Amino acid sequence: MSERLAMKVAIVTGGASGLGLATAARFVEEGASVIVTDKDEDRLNGAFGNISNIEPLDRRYQDVTDEIGWESLINYVLNEYGRLDILVNNAGITKDNLLMRMSEDDFDHVLEVNLKSVFNMTHAIQRAFLKQRHGSLIHLSSVVGVKGNAGQSNYAASKAGIIGFSKSVALELGSRNIRSNVIAPGFIETEMTARLSEEVVQGWRSGIPLKRGGTPKDVAEACVFLASDLSSYITGQVLHVDGGMLT
Ligand code: NAD
Repeated sequence: MSERLAMKVAIVTGGASGLGLATAARFVEEGASVIVTDKDEDRLNGAFGNISNIEPLDRRYQDVTDEIGWESLINYVLNEYGRLDILVNNAGITKDNLLMRMSEDDFDHVLEVNLKSVFNMTHAIQRAFLKQRHGSLIHLSSVVGVKGNAGQSNYAASKAGIIGFSKSVALELGSRNIRSNVIAPGFIETEMTARLSEEVVQGWRSGIPLKRGGTPKDVAEACVFLASDLSSYITGQVLHVDGGMLT
């Protein structure tokens, strides 16, 4: 089978765990060179021990809120690999609370990590993409960014903001063959959801038309599609990877 991402170079942010890690591993299987960034150095170093055949895979410590770090990361990638084709803006956090108990700091911090970083990184990478006259931007939003969720007003605002941002970038940069798309995962079963009670998880599953939670691989496959030339005529879209939750 031919590799869908042969010769391509990708950056995946927050790639030391969960959906980012699954996406990085799938990209490598599809022939890409992948630079995985994360702010958690231990996780970054430990994450890849039990995944074989993932060379070439490059790990870089980086906090997505560090604006200056982006420029040096992009310069590093261009010097080392000679090109840059794909950016997956995946890093994200939650700091849940009901609005009446949410502090301004918790609101600002979630917006800074989840949304401002997407602006910073996209802003920093656009010069390289414009020069090459191609590039695929993939931003991780959430079903929560589309329909909202009690206790997550900060997270929902950040994930909704990503959708508006991506659509605007798609309009601005489409004429240069730069595509910008969003993936909106629903209930994806990860280490995080493993901490929920079986009853709660079953409740989620039974409310989903496909009757199961998603897997990190389900999201990774969607990222492969949007990163590859299979989606070369698709931009400005939100791909819902949620088992039909919003239907
Ligand atoms: P995760 O917590 O497993 O992984 C997120 C990674 O981002 C971690 O490795 C963390 O160290 C890193 N990170 C956090 N802050 C960072 C920063 N400032 N700089 C650099 N790295 C940072 O989360 P996940 O479940 O894999 O989620 C990945 C993305 O998908 C997030 O944007 C999340 O909002 C979104 N999402 C996840 C789900 C889900 O069910 N898991 C559903 C919808 C959307």
